[in-house]
Amino acid sequence: MIPAEFRYERVSTVDEALARLAEHGDDAKVLAGGHSLLPLMKLRLAAPEYLVDIGPVDELRYVRLDGDEVVIGALTRYSDLEQDPVLREHAPLLAHASGEVGDRQVRHRGTLGGSLVHADAAADLPAAILASDAVLVARGPSGERRIPASEFFLGPFTTPLEPDELLTEIRLPGQAGLGWGFEKFTRRALDWAMVGVAVVGGKVGLVNMAGVPLRASATEEALASGASIADAAALAAEGTNPPDEPHATAEYRRHLARVLTRRALTQAAGS
Ligand SMILES: Cc1cc2nc3c(=O)[nH]c(=O)nc-3n(C[C@H](O)[C@H](O)[C@H](O)COP(=O)(O)OP(=O)(O)OC[C@H]3O[C@@H](n4cnc5c(N)ncnc54)[C@H](O)[C@@H]3O)c2cc1C
Repeated sequence: MIPAEFRYERVSTVDEALARLAEHGDDAKVLAGGHSLLPLMKLRLAAPEYLVDIGPVDELRYVRLDGDEVVIGALTRYSDLEQDPVLREHAPLLAHASGEVGDRQVRHRGTLGGSLVHADAAADLPAAILASDAVLVARGPSGERRIPASEFFLGPFTTPLEPDELLTEIRLPGQAGLGWGFEKFTRRALDWAMVGVAVVGGKVGLVNMAGVPLRASATEEALASGASIADAAALAAEGTNPPDEPHATAEYRRHLARVLTRRALTQAAGS
């Protein structure tokens, strides 16, 4: 439970972070809230030679409107997202889902960017980001690039970010007035989701139903062609490949996906 030796470097601007990442390449890891990276290091599943702590980079901590879009700095913490008045009005699904992550301690440290780059299919916010049709902004030595959320989760814990790139911003189309719902089924209070469902404006993101967060495309298509909530939700497990574990078999997770999707869609219809 003790990490391998590493060098710790604290930076206070994006430019400084990029310079350190360019210098260290594959040997460095960015440290944001540390709530996924540090456990991995303690288990020695990650052993970076350098940790570049971006905690003090305040320029990456914000929520604001930019025309019709809501833009969020990658270092914004769950607890700030949960309470932010702009987010609550213009992207209420994301504000609500942020309040469902772990416990208060986790939410005071964990960041939206950290959750997305960690790319765990069992995490809550990647599914909400997918359902929101968000675009992720990355900055590296050759400038900025924009990656649609649908192209960001390549595999378990795998994204298209290069070791010298920083995720800087998340951009969502404004969702004021769109129906939304979020359901998360846990074994014990504060656990990770056994299965979760994030719905906004007829788009449906699934938590823990494959090696990556994914959209319930068959459900979305059925809704778009006028199917009832019950009929559309019955298709929620199509195209999924959920983990099969003693405490939750794949078949049980498929059942949960159908039930939770029906509940989340019903919630969305009433919101
Ligand atoms: C007890 C506990 C319970 C939890 N429960 C839940 C839960 O119910 N639901 C849930 O979704 N999550 C849960 N989590 C995980 C939590 O959400 C983490 O905070 C999140 O997964 C990672 O965010 P972080 O800011 O802590 O990132 P870190 O751990 O600092 O980093 C994670 C990864 O992202 C990279 N990274 C971070 N920021 C950037 C950036 N801006 N640019 C490039 N790379 C970056 C790091 O190098 C690292 O590889 C839990 C964690 C704990 C410890």
